[in-house]
Amino acid sequence: MILPSDFIEELGRVLGDDTEKYISLYDKPAFRGISVNRLKTTPEKLLPLLPFEAVSSPFYKDGYYIPSDWENGGNHPLHLAGGYYIQEPSASSAAELLDISPGDKVLDMCAAPGGKSSQIASMLGGSGLIWSNEVVKNRASVLISNYERMGISNGIVSSCYPDRLAEKLEGYFDKVLVDAPCSGEGMFRKNPEAVGEWSRAHVTACAQRQLSILKCAVKCLREGGILVYSTCTFSPEENEETVEKLLSECPELEPYDITETAARKTSLPNAIRITPIEGGEGHFAARFRKKEESDFPSVRPGRISPPPKEIRSLADKLLGEVFSDAPERELNYIGERLYLAPEEMPELNGLGVLRAGVLVGETVKKRIEPAHALFMSFPVEKYNNILELSLDDSRLEEYLSGLETDCGEVRGYTLVSVEGLSLGFGKASGGRLKNKYPKGLRRK
Ligand code: SAM
Repeated sequence: MILPSDFIEELGRVLGDDTEKYISLYDKPAFRGISVNRLKTTPEKLLPLLPFEAVSSPFYKDGYYIPSDWENGGNHPLHLAGGYYIQEPSASSAAELLDISPGDKVLDMCAAPGGKSSQIASMLGGSGLIWSNEVVKNRASVLISNYERMGISNGIVSSCYPDRLAEKLEGYFDKVLVDAPCSGEGMFRKNPEAVGEWSRAHVTACAQRQLSILKCAVKCLREGGILVYSTCTFSPEENEETVEKLLSECPELEPYDITETAARKTSLPNAIRITPIEGGEGHFAARFRKKEESDFPSVRPGRISPPPKEIRSLADKLLGEVFSDAPERELNYIGERLYLAPEEMPELNGLGVLRAGVLVGETVKKRIEPAHALFMSFPVEKYNNILELSLDDSRLEEYLSGLETDCGEVRGYTLVSVEGLSLGFGKASGGRLKNKYPKGLRRK
């Protein structure tokens, strides 16, 4: 591969004597990895079910290397059931720097397709709030399907520009992640075509855009809150220089040092870099804290719009049939669609919100057609009827292909699970399960 000379010169500024070593690694396969989703499983349960021995990643406690030639990762039933997210190992390093505690309100400002949001939701364990924003609308819909697959119930997905969030949600979040759009130099080994798109002018444009997104992120943070800025590029103009500019333009922010790390140190105590030399494709992350002296307008709590009486009783009936232990969430009724609202929710108006909480279903004539998300989003033990399949059960491929299957004794709406992870649902009667696996997800 021929790398632009300007890029190599820039690389020399950050890698010094290691530049040659880095370039020599271009002949080797790119690193690949998964992050295990604790909303659905644990590494102890999941890893023995995979067709290889996964090796622990030094960058994330639930991150593992997978073989570079494993073709089936995205089609594997345990992936479809949200047991893991395919995530390059260095990309998993940033979310861990947020120091997530249960109950935190976390904003992921540039979130699609949702790798880091999935990690954050896994660390929150169903508590607090994860708000994932993606400015590009069709990328935001990918984010929603990943939310459903991973079983995120305490989340909000929006599609708006960061300045909107800053205006309406000032001081609201405990933690904010900006995984910024960047020149993508860390993607060159994985995606050689990206090299052709590289230019100095693009690096400069990315750096400017990152600074403006970061200034919005600072506004969204409460006092004492943590901000993490990450990119998948090596450029010091986008990375270190953006960190320095941000600190000089936002005096309410201070660096928050990163002490223990398997990554490469940088010239800044609050920033790390990962290159293929350390065992990842390429990531930069910096961490900040908002000083304890800021004063904010308070953010209004979100308004719930309860369903009318007849819809409420249909919903109670449905939830009573689906769950043995129904989640204690308020019902929110928006344009024929019924949601279980997140426990924590600010006012959503004007923020391009596409999903808030779990879609229960849609009202069709005088009934509620249940949604796939309703069966993906809560622990399996909470459901009434379960058709449990193992990886070697022939009904599993039938179900994933959209076919009717045998289901034994269960009756009515039934959760289908694989190795204990929820995968979808169907409607059982007379020993047969009518398939409700979404058409867009079925095996072709
Ligand atoms: N965090 C994501 C993950 O882990 O899956 C990857 C995010 S990607 C590096 C950066 C995202 O920023 C892209 O989805 C892109 O559409 C979005 N973006 C582009 N321009 C933006 C802007 N002006 N403000 C906010 N986000 C923007």
